[in-house]
Amino acid sequence: MAGTEHSQKSTGWAATDTSGILSPFHFSRRENGSDDVTIKILYCGVCHSDLHSVKNDWGFTNYPVVPGHEIVGLVTKTGSDVQKFKVGNRVGVGVIVGSCKTCDICQQDLENYCPRVIFTYNSRDRDGTRTYGGYSDIVVVDQHFVLRIPENLSSDTCAPLLCAGITVYSPMKYYGMAEPGKHLGVAGLGGLGHVAVKFGKAFGLKVTVISTSPKKESEAINKLGADSFLVSTDPAQLKAATGTMDFIIDTIAAVHPLAPLLGLLKMNGKLVTVGLPDKPLELPIFPLVLGRKLVGGSDIGGMKETQEMLDFCGKHNINADIELIHIDYINTAFERLAKSDVRYRFVIDVANSLAMFRAVAWGPVIDPTKGFIPLPLNESNLVIQWPYDLLQDQRYSFSHGVHKLWVFNTDKPHTPVSKTNPRTEIRIEGYNYSSGVWQFEAFGYIPCGTSGVCVMQVFGSSPPHATTLMLRVYNGSLTYYREPVIIPNVYDKWFRLNVIHDVEANKVEVYINGILRYEAPGRGGTYHYFKCGVYAQDDSSYYMESRWKGIRVLKKCD
Ligand SMILES: [Zn+2]
Ligand SMILES: [Zn+2]
Repeated sequence: MAGTEHSQKSTGWAATDTSGILSPFHFSRRENGSDDVTIKILYCGVCHSDLHSVKNDWGFTNYPVVPGHEIVGLVTKTGSDVQKFKVGNRVGVGVIVGSCKTCDICQQDLENYCPRVIFTYNSRDRDGTRTYGGYSDIVVVDQHFVLRIPENLSSDTCAPLLCAGITVYSPMKYYGMAEPGKHLGVAGLGGLGHVAVKFGKAFGLKVTVISTSPKKESEAINKLGADSFLVSTDPAQLKAATGTMDFIIDTIAAVHPLAPLLGLLKMNGKLVTVGLPDKPLELPIFPLVLGRKLVGGSDIGGMKETQEMLDFCGKHNINADIELIHIDYINTAFERLAKSDVRYRFVIDVANSLAMFRAVAWGPVIDPTKGFIPLPLNESNLVIQWPYDLLQDQRYSFSHGVHKLWVFNTDKPHTPVSKTNPRTEIRIEGYNYSSGVWQFEAFGYIPCGTSGVCVMQVFGSSPPHATTLMLRVYNGSLTYYREPVIIPNVYDKWFRLNVIHDVEANKVEVYINGILRYEAPGRGGTYHYFKCGVYAQDDSSYYMESRWKGIRVLKKCD
């Protein structure tokens, strides 16, 4: 039922296999029902669960998966039975979007533990179709699972509260960890941990951050307000802190030893785990038995408690510390998240970036040159650049109408003074432009094995960039700069490429075989020209080659 067509069209970014690489994806959402609200998504936090899901670390991912369960947006439609929300309200959606509503567990407002819980993505919805998350433009959600955002919280920094926030708030309440004056340890200072520190201080606790990275100490204390900092890999520090903590909230999402943490607890101390490592942890029994200690778990929270948590954050002005990103940065963000290289949560500026970086997965085959006139091109307009210490025919040939350009990643730059990577390229001369709508057309061919290379570019932009567009090839995929993938499997076949640059509209469009595959914003610049060939980038293969025929430059008729 994954492919079922609903009435509301949606665009998002999805991972399609265990590589976990996300690229633009088109799908549909159900029509807004009587109990539903449709939400235009403004921001979505990037949770560690998203990373586990796109890579299928837990073994239950159904592809394609659109992740994202820290959603903040605006209500655009309400069903006839919706009283709680009006069009224009600012609302949040967290990890769950449905449950049975009738079982004992649901009756206790613990929908998150209902056996029929429906998760925001990678779950089976009540109509049998698949749920897709918040890395997308809109979402349709049963009003019971929609939350009000307190007015004083800003939309971007409060998004992470919807998963990271409730994940630490709920166990702190349930396990009695909110008693003022008690000593709380927070293990792991990431998205969850940094919010736990803020809650701990708001509850009036003494808070110690337990982390493997000593470099986080000053920020933990000076910025987040922790009382002390403990380097968990330092035996002397661990020994000195033995038996000093009433509770520890363990937010670490990787496999890690529990023994050092249990040693920090007082008698009757409680260790609550909320991170979800992909392999079991070893549980030492002796310290539990001898100190009457407890190890517990907790998974997000029910809807009532999640609203209570948001209201608490409003009252105490608690927000997440975030790094705001555009959607096209998501694959790099995941790489950084895997290395814990984020302070402390990535949040995607969905509304402002999704429409700018839009790949069109289907669409009519058209002639992109319609309405354009071709400009005269002769040999003098095609200027070859190649490694300066060689002869041109050692890196370039032209026969039967085909330009063949190749380069090795050990080659010299194209001039003795250039510090750039090796290239063999055709530069279009005589048609530099700074206004109007211009088009590059050619048939391109990339032989198998050529990788880490720019094959076509629109030169010129505002600093710090040098180009408005680079089409590159990485491992057989044609990409927009390093990412995302525009089309996979480009090797060993001719494709028709049309690149349209509308200077005034500040937009570039990429057509492959007559189908619009990608749109991106322009990047400024005083003048532009087109290039094609091979220009080594990061991770380049030893040998790089591209072939071109039928090169044309066109300009839109006035
Ligand atoms: Zn999450
Ligand atoms: Zn239930």
